[in-house]
Amino acid sequence: MDNKNTNNNKVNMPKFNLNWMYMIIALMLFGLWWGSDSHTPGNKAVSYSQFQEYVRSGYISRVSGNEDKSIEAHLKPNAVAAVFGADSSKVGRDPIITSRGPSTDKLDEFLESERSAGHFDGTADYPPKSDFFPAIIVQLLPFIVIVAIWLFFMRRMSGSAAGSAGGVFSVGKSKAQLFEKGSTIKVTFKDVAGLAEAKQEVEEIVEFLKEPQKYTDLGGKIPKGALLVGPPGTGKTLLAKAVAGEANVPFFSLAGSDFVEMFVGVGASRVRDLFKQAKEKAPCIVFIDEIDAVGRARGKNPAMGGNDERENTLNQLLTEMDGFGSNSGVIILAATNRVDVLDKALLRAGRFDRQIHVDLPDLNERKEVFGVHLRPIKIDDTVDVDLLARQTPGFSGADIANVCNEAALIAARHGKRFVGKQDFLDAVDRIIGGLEKKTKITTEEERRSIALHEAGHATISWLLEYASPLIKVTIVPRGRALGAAWYLPEERQITTKEQMLDEMCATLGGRAAEDLFLGHISSGAMNDLERVTKQSYGMIAYLGMSEKLPNLCYYDNNEYSFNKPYSEKTAELIDAEVKEMINEQYARAKQILTEHKDGHRELTQLLIDKEVIYAEDVERIFGKRPWASRSEEIMAAKEASKEKAAHEAESRKTAVSEEKESATPKTTGKDNNE
Ligand code: ADP
Ligand code: ZN
Repeated sequence: MDNKNTNNNKVNMPKFNLNWMYMIIALMLFGLWWGSDSHTPGNKAVSYSQFQEYVRSGYISRVSGNEDKSIEAHLKPNAVAAVFGADSSKVGRDPIITSRGPSTDKLDEFLESERSAGHFDGTADYPPKSDFFPAIIVQLLPFIVIVAIWLFFMRRMSGSAAGSAGGVFSVGKSKAQLFEKGSTIKVTFKDVAGLAEAKQEVEEIVEFLKEPQKYTDLGGKIPKGALLVGPPGTGKTLLAKAVAGEANVPFFSLAGSDFVEMFVGVGASRVRDLFKQAKEKAPCIVFIDEIDAVGRARGKNPAMGGNDERENTLNQLLTEMDGFGSNSGVIILAATNRVDVLDKALLRAGRFDRQIHVDLPDLNERKEVFGVHLRPIKIDDTVDVDLLARQTPGFSGADIANVCNEAALIAARHGKRFVGKQDFLDAVDRIIGGLEKKTKITTEEERRSIALHEAGHATISWLLEYASPLIKVTIVPRGRALGAAWYLPEERQITTKEQMLDEMCATLGGRAAEDLFLGHISSGAMNDLERVTKQSYGMIAYLGMSEKLPNLCYYDNNEYSFNKPYSEKTAELIDAEVKEMINEQYARAKQILTEHKDGHRELTQLLIDKEVIYAEDVERIFGKRPWASRSEEIMAAKEASKEKAAHEAESRKTAVSEEKESATPKTTGKDNNE
């Protein structure tokens, strides 16, 4: 529903620009035509005596005298040259002489006397007073036309859906859709499958909304916003709706692109309007989908001139978020697929300082999603949820919802009374066919190779003393990475050479595993290799950690210097040392993997089966890490320091940010370099 809306806007944007152009061109043409009328060279204004002179000379063919004493007279064709002189070629065939007389009666008297004297043989008429009104209309017509055109365009630009009601006057109003509490079918956490971690995080927001006093009485501040980060179709909108449903508060929903319009200032005024509405309905949830449409980093590229209107909108959004008191009960949830492009100011404390990751579902989560979407469908007992979840690696929640719907349609087409297993499998095939171009659906073989690779990292990092302890490994694609591993990096101020070498060995473990057990290497390790190469250069050229170049730092803090601070020969030496270091670690990785071949194979199979594995699974295979006690010590020390912090005033905040930092996933992604 929301998606359709945003798409509309996106498609329309370039058209708006063209319309503007048409409008400007039309106005210019109009202006030319309008302007030409009063300055036409075919008119000549003269004094009354001059006019009398022309009449006496017999130049005039027709006279009309108006009530307001103005006179218009047409010349005889042969008199044009005499009146206009050199200009006569420019004035056209029927030039007009204008003048002002004393009154229509006097004019008539004069013309009659000239007629009897034989100087005037034309016609004279005196249009009645009512002529006045049409004259006004004629004068105003252009303005009426302009306003009509303007209205027409404004109406089209403000979008057919929202614009039709208020027309041009609602352009600055926010386009948020309001779901009053209890008015629509309520979405609760029951409808959101999987996403356990995300649910847990938003649980707190629900509590805030339900019982704000509980927190404010203690002097705590209610969070203002949270950012839901994840690929499309993973249930971000659903989660936000569920928060509103659980807390039983109104829910405003709109997309970031709804703020953006052609007109300067509209975006900002829409933001203001949105917040005004939200404050009236507080406590409530405001959900902004695709916030990157407004939230992109400001003015990064001065050469492009920047998008002032978007920046104004963003500034207004920031101001509003700062402006409303933290306890006003309005909580803003925003969704995006790309945190990296967002303006840093949006992520600062007091704005969207919480990020909640909403990722593609793994095997078990897919089972749960099927569970939710199979509820309304009449299935027979051939349907095996486990099998379906296995058949749909890389599917998002929305894709799975789609599969269920498609299966029901297929069954109905075949005139069945229940939906069977084959209908679901056909639906999966059909959806994969449609998805292939859009998202990454990994084949069986690819999954095996990704699992081998990730198991390689996991095995080595488990067995080396100084490698960071593993938390979780997954082969569910995330962003551009096809698989990922999380480690708990130890917080150390000083890193020893041994630690660095162990890290390097673990990073090379992916490629080494492919090489050893698959027989061929793949493009998937580019990210790993890049990191290893950089680190090794750093160790040798800056940290003096090689045998042939000991205690030398060639660090050059002048980033614009084109000369290397060392000789060609040294450069060659550095290159050779880097190569040697990496080769050595690669050989070490291979050796470790060969020694623990069986464990690695078991781990790979587990990854293929379960898609996610945790430290416990690795421990079951390889046994406890001999050095675990050391990292446990570190953890214990950390806990203690956290507890101490909890007694201080800003306790909640520090604890959260600290947790975030230490749990920041250090991913070893398998980048697919397209
Ligand atoms: P997003 O906002 O992340 O693009 P949506 O929340 O709009 O995705 O999800 C679209 C649809 O996909 C939902 O309406 C729901 O039917 C289905 N869906 C997605 N994720 C889930 C989930 N975790 N559990 C149940 N249904 C889901
Ligand atoms: Zn890797």
